[in-house]
Amino acid sequence: MASTHHSYLAGQAIQSDRHVDVYNPYNNEHIAQVTECSAVHTQQAIEKALGLGTRLTRYERFEILDKTRRALLAEKESFAKLITSEAGLCLRETLYEVGRACDVLQFSAMEALKDDGQVFSCDVSPQGKARKIFTLREPLNLAVAITPFNHPLNQVAHKLGPAIAAGTPIILKPSEKTPLSAIRLAELLYENGLPGEMLSVLLGPTQEVAEPLVLDERVELVSFTGSVAVGKHIAKTAGYKKLVLELGGNDPLIILEDADLEMAVHLACEGAFRNSGQRCTAVKRILVQRSILDTFTKAFVKQAATYTSGDPSSMDTRVGTVIDEASAERLSQAVDKAVAQGAKVLLGGGRKGALLEPTVIADVPRDADMVTSESFGPLAPLLAVDDMDDAIRLTNSTPYGLSSGVVTNNMEQALKAVRELKCGTVNINEVPGYRIECSPFGGIKDSGLGIKEGVIEAIKCMTTVKTFSLPWG
Ligand code: NAP
Repeated sequence: MASTHHSYLAGQAIQSDRHVDVYNPYNNEHIAQVTECSAVHTQQAIEKALGLGTRLTRYERFEILDKTRRALLAEKESFAKLITSEAGLCLRETLYEVGRACDVLQFSAMEALKDDGQVFSCDVSPQGKARKIFTLREPLNLAVAITPFNHPLNQVAHKLGPAIAAGTPIILKPSEKTPLSAIRLAELLYENGLPGEMLSVLLGPTQEVAEPLVLDERVELVSFTGSVAVGKHIAKTAGYKKLVLELGGNDPLIILEDADLEMAVHLACEGAFRNSGQRCTAVKRILVQRSILDTFTKAFVKQAATYTSGDPSSMDTRVGTVIDEASAERLSQAVDKAVAQGAKVLLGGGRKGALLEPTVIADVPRDADMVTSESFGPLAPLLAVDDMDDAIRLTNSTPYGLSSGVVTNNMEQALKAVRELKCGTVNINEVPGYRIECSPFGGIKDSGLGIKEGVIEAIKCMTTVKTFSLPWG
């Protein structure tokens, strides 16, 4: 029987006759219903957050985050199962995701303890005076976070952890496809001391929740992670407020002829198939130098065949479902279209409901939709490139600019890639998605405004800098 969960208004569970239904993408089981908010709840959540009384001390913020991290670790398996049931991601991936979310909370807790002020002596020029200028960071009055389905816990942790570390009240609108782990994380935060006014979690129709939050002039920051289309809509409508937009990607893995073949094959598989290919930084194009294409392809297909798809709740499964059947169908159509343009499916391609087999596609034309736009699933399109210059031209030719990976042992070529790829990250001998939770992360062009997240940068966005100066004679 489906369990009942609640949206939360300033720490209080919302009671309502309206519900959002949540289904398991693997077997279509109705697993939960979540109480839905109205436009009135949205206004009340804003007012409650703005009415926050005494601010938490740095130690209190540290303690809430650290205790929540420990509680999350203690519930690691049940959280992983919850994500698996709402998102169809396999248990191996969701256990990993819970570990990442623990890191986010840990780094946020550590940052809460650090003083972030700077000091400037003013007697440093002939125009100077005997004064010092100091900086301090002040929390915002209110931030809004809107999150996607693909890392339903970790994306949420990346918004809530930094907000709490900064002392900024936040209203979260999680994806309606995967709200359960977000709600459970909020409950853990309340249980571990977070004042209700610091956090509301609202689920409801876009025109009653997300859009009013984006439009409201009292909201000082909208931190959005999701698709380019919604991100650009928010950019058009949000008005005078800070925006953090983490949008789609179309990341390449570039493999040069001097690459360590075993490493290249491993990174291509991990990059294309982990998290069912539903990472903003998943490998969406594999660009292989022509001279090694045949050798690489043979080894890649062999290794890709070990990424078995199936029941996400089994520890033997390496690739679970994509988010729903409609998405799986769109991905299959993208493959069919590329095949009609001359591409060949070398492995996979089968689909059952939302379960799409990891699929290796060779001879993909450079203008196939599959590689010019974002294919959010376990597809691995192979394209030949002449050399690094050709790979850079091809990479930079799409509107996206999130991340990239380059497999080479040639330092000169590696540095050329770092300098010339137009994107937020270049990882040498790693997948495009490699990062730690506190390093700066985010894209340019259609992938984002170049304002980074990652715990440390996100805290900067959640605060404003005040300067003050004192006589220093
Ligand atoms: P999405 O459709 O853009 O939805 C993201 C969130 O926006 C959801 O909570 C959604 O609510 C909400 N939303 C929908 N319409 C809205 C509107 N008019 N105003 C305000 N909010 C609105 O994205 P998705 O399909 O969930 O996620 C996949 C996408 O996220 C991919 O493109 C992926 O690349 C991107 N992503 C980017 C990053 C990054 O860091 N760059 C990381 C992860 C994912 P509902 O659920 O209620 O529709």
